Amino acid sequence: MISTASVHGIASMIIQVEADVSNGMPSFEMVGVLSSEVREAKERIRAAIRNAGYLLPPKRITVNLCPADVRKSGAGFDLPIALAVLCAHGIVPPQKPGHTLFVGEITLNGALRPVRGVLPMALAARQAGIRAFVLPVENAREAAFVKELAVYPAADLSSVIKHLNGQTLPEFTTINIEETASDLSAGVDFSQISGQYTLRRACEIAASGMHNLLMVGPPGAGKTLAAQAIASILPPLNEEEMLELAGIYSVSGLFAERKKQLYRRPFRSPHNSVTKMALLGGGRIPRPGEISLAHKGILFLDELTEFERPLLEQLRQPLEERQIRLVRQAGTYCYPAEFVLVAAMNACGCGNFPDREKCTCTPRQIRQHLGKISRPLLDRVDLTIEVPKVTMADLLSHSENESSEQIRQRVIRAHEIQRKRFAGFKISCNSRMRAEFLRRFCPMSEGARKCLAEAYEELDLSARAYHRLIRVARTIADLDACEEILERHMTEALLYRSMDEAAYRSGV
Ligand SMILES: [Zn+2]
Repeated sequence: MISTASVHGIASMIIQVEADVSNGMPSFEMVGVLSSEVREAKERIRAAIRNAGYLLPPKRITVNLCPADVRKSGAGFDLPIALAVLCAHGIVPPQKPGHTLFVGEITLNGALRPVRGVLPMALAARQAGIRAFVLPVENAREAAFVKELAVYPAADLSSVIKHLNGQTLPEFTTINIEETASDLSAGVDFSQISGQYTLRRACEIAASGMHNLLMVGPPGAGKTLAAQAIASILPPLNEEEMLELAGIYSVSGLFAERKKQLYRRPFRSPHNSVTKMALLGGGRIPRPGEISLAHKGILFLDELTEFERPLLEQLRQPLEERQIRLVRQAGTYCYPAEFVLVAAMNACGCGNFPDREKCTCTPRQIRQHLGKISRPLLDRVDLTIEVPKVTMADLLSHSENESSEQIRQRVIRAHEIQRKRFAGFKISCNSRMRAEFLRRFCPMSEGARKCLAEAYEELDLSARAYHRLIRVARTIADLDACEEILERHMTEALLYRSMDEAAYRSGV
C-alpha cells in the first residue's frame, strides 16, 4: 500500500494506491475515478520502470486507487503508482500504510518532475500522522514548510527504489521560515510619490480598512505608482493567512514566487487583455486565477475601461463572496479570493477630463467612457478619488515625503483596532461589515449623524452607497483612534464618495 495525495481546490486528501499482479492476459488496469492524465500514466510508468533497469514479467497488473469516490487528477500519481507496481513485483518492500507520502510525475526515462499543490499535500499528510515525504527535488522546499515531516527529495525513480531498499536519500533540512521569508519590502515606496495629499490619504484609508479604491485621472498622475505603493503599507499576513496563501500559490505551481516574501501581502496587476480563465481561475485541471493569487492583498486593474465589460461583471460575485466557485464536470472547485480591488482609469477617452481646456471629448463621449464601468461594479467600490496631474509645486517641494514604513505603522494600528472589535464575529475588517453590523459597530456623534442624513437627502444615495459611507467613516475614525465616528470623519468620508457625482458632474 503506497500513500499519496490528491488536491481539490486548495485542500488535499490522502489517497492509497495498491497494485495486484496475477497470471492471465498481460494488461495494465487502473480503477478508482481517474482523470485522463492519471490514465495516461500507464505508458510513462512502464517505460520509466524499464529504464530504471527492471523488466516486469508479462502479467496482469491491476492498480487500485482509493477512496474510490474521490476523483484523482494531475500527474503526481505517477510515482506512487509505479511504486505500487514495483511493490507487487517484490522489487521494493511493502510499505506501512500511512508512514511515507509519495508524490511525483515521472518522465519516460524515469526522472521525477515537480507537481502542483505540494504544500496542501504536506499539510494533509501532517494531519493524517504521516511522518515522511518523498518527492521531486524542485518541490522539497515547499514540503519542508511543514516542520513535522522528514522530506526526501529524489531526482529519479531509481533513487526512490534504492531509498526504499535501504540506501536512504539525504533528508532535506528544514528551512527557517522566519529568516528567509520576513522581507516585507515592496518595489515602490510612498516616499517616491510627491505631493498628492488626497491620493496618499485615500491609499492609507483603503489599506487600513481593506476598502476597494478607484482612482480617476489623467495619465501621468501617479495612479499606477500609488497602487503599487499600497502593497507596501499593508500589515504582514498572520500565520494562518500566510499558510492559506502559500497553499494557493503551491496549487498554482507558483510557490517559488512567494517563498522569499511569505508574509507579504500579494500585489497582482493583470493586463487588460487577461483571459477569463487567467483572471478568475479555471482550466481542464482547474487552477486559481489572479483574483485568488491576490487573496488577502491587492488586485490592481489599470486602465479599467480597457477591460472587457463582461469580464469585469464577473468580478461582482467574488467581490461579494470573497471566494470563487468554478463549476466543472468533475465537481465544484472553490478558491479563496478576498482581495482589495484597486483600479485606475482616465475620466474620458482623451484622458484630460476634467481639464476642459485640453479635453477634446464631447459630453456624450465622456458619458460613454464612464458608462464602460457598470453601476453594480462601482457600487462595490468604497473609495473613489480624482487624481489630478502632479503640480509643479509638488515636484519642486523640498518637504520630505512620508515613507511607507511610517504609514504602515498607522495602518497596522487601525487593523489591530478592527481585530479587537470584530473578535468572535468572523469579520476581518471594516469593509467586510454587513449592513446589520453597522449600527452595532459604528456609533456616531450627533454631528456625524446630521452630516450623513444631509448627504443622503442631497445626493440621493442608494442604500449601498449609504452603508459604504459609514464603513469608510469607521475606518477614518479608527485611524484617529476614535471609538465614536465624529463629524470630521464623516465629512472626510464624503470626499471619497464614488463616481456618483464626482465624474458625472462638472457640466457633463
Ligand atoms: Zn477628453
